[in-house]
Formats: sequence, structure tokens, C-alpha cells
Amino acid sequence: MDAALPPLTASTLYLVATPIGNLEDITLRALRVLRECDVVAAEDTRHSGQLLKHFGISKPLLSYFQFNEAKRSEEIIERLRRGEKVALVTDAGSPGISDPGERVVKAAIAAGFRIEAVVGPCALVAGLTASGLPADEFHFVGFLPHKSGQRRNKLEALKTVAGTLIFYESPYRIEKLLGELNEVYPDRDVVLARELTKKFEEFLRGKPAALLEIAGKRSLKGEFVVLVGGAEPERAKAPIES
Ligand code: SAM
Repeated sequence: MDAALPPLTASTLYLVATPIGNLEDITLRALRVLRECDVVAAEDTRHSGQLLKHFGISKPLLSYFQFNEAKRSEEIIERLRRGEKVALVTDAGSPGISDPGERVVKAAIAAGFRIEAVVGPCALVAGLTASGLPADEFHFVGFLPHKSGQRRNKLEALKTVAGTLIFYESPYRIEKLLGELNEVYPDRDVVLARELTKKFEEFLRGKPAALLEIAGKRSLKGEFVVLVGGAEPERAKAPIES
């Protein structure tokens, strides 16, 4: 690699963002960190092993998620203590955003180690910026709870948030979520950002009822970011004075 680039720092946890679908979205810095680190800590070693293989990188992989996340975090901390440079990747996107990266980061900070974010793809940013909904103020919710009552309460509690609401949702619950949005937010603009950066990427825009109708006609598959226009500011509700 370029000799002018500084080497990686010892005892540092590098949070390496990886593609959310399109392998071209890996950054040059991500590749360098993955090549030069001592070990890659992965959410799923098989999945990340394939990614490394695609880019011709051979590196020891350590699972930090399967079986016992707390114990595995400790193993990462131990390696940082020995001076190792650890790259942490999750299955897709930016580690720590609605995935198990967060716990390792907290443990590494608590143990006094340096953390560096090797920035890159993140589904919520891709979905928000291309949605056409206001991006000046937004509220990232991530995944809603699974239980119906808890989902409903959470959606109700978000009613007064002024910014665009951003959810992650699995294809198995997307229709359920649209039904809930139709009850709680019938008048809001909603955008379904589907399969971002992939071959079948699409944006479905409309009120919840219109999107429900689409979901009734064709099964919506793939990965989704769901965006909901924020609460109307009070001034927008006030009558226009002549
Ligand atoms: N850390 C990731 C990030 O930076 O976006 C998110 C991980 S979370 C476990 C996975 C969820 O992100 C999916 O269920 C989906 O809601 C969203 N997601 C990930 N990739 C996506 C894509 N290509 N298109 C739409 N949504 C995606």
C-alpha cells in the first residue's frame, strides 16, 4: 500500500463499515485496515470470510457474537491489551447501528482503548438521503419491538417527534408495520427504501394506505428502511392570515 499512509495504531479497535449490498461500496481505507489489522472480529465469520475472500484478504477471523457475546468481547479486549489492532465488522453497514457492534465498543471504551470509525455504508443514511423527506432533523428508531402492544406504544410515543422517523424492518413484518402506520400515522408521507444499493433497489412513496395496497398486490421482499414524515410543526396547522 501507499508508503505515505500512516500505519495502523496499536491497541486500537477499528469499526470498519462494509457494504449493505453492493460490494463496490467498500472504501479504500476499509480495505487497508482489513489488510493491515491483526485480527478481524466479525458478527458472522462465514459471512465476513466471504467478503474478505472477495477482496483477496486472508486474515484470522474471530466471532464476537455467537454463543457468548460478553465472553467474546472480553477476548477482543485481551487482544487490544496485547497491543493488537482489531478490525470489527458486522454483517452489513456501519458496526454499532442496530447490530451487535455496540456492546464491544462499550467494553473497549470502558477498558480505556482507542476506537476509530472507518466510515462507509449505512442503510439509514442511504434511505434518508434518497427518500426526499426532510433530512435536516431526523429520529432513528431502528427495529421496533416484536410484541404488538409494545410496537403500538412506541409508535404512539413517537407521534410528537418533529423530524423524519427512520425504522429498520424485516421483510416478514413489513406489511404489519404498514398496517400499524396506517392506524397511527394515516396522513403522513411514508417512504419504503427497499434493497438499497442492490440490483432491485426501489423507493415506494405514499401514504400508508397506498403502500398497504401495493403490499397487498405484490409481496414485498428484501431489506427495508422505512421512513415516516415528522409531525407537522404547530405553525403549519395555524390558519393562514390574510
Ligand atoms: N449496521 C447496519 C447499517 O449500518 O445500516 C444495519 C444492520 S441491521 C442488523 C439490518 C437492517 O438494516 C435490515 O433489517 C434493514 O432494515 C436495514 N438494511 C440493511 N441493508 C439494507 C439494504 N440494502 N436496503 C434496505 N435496508 C437495509
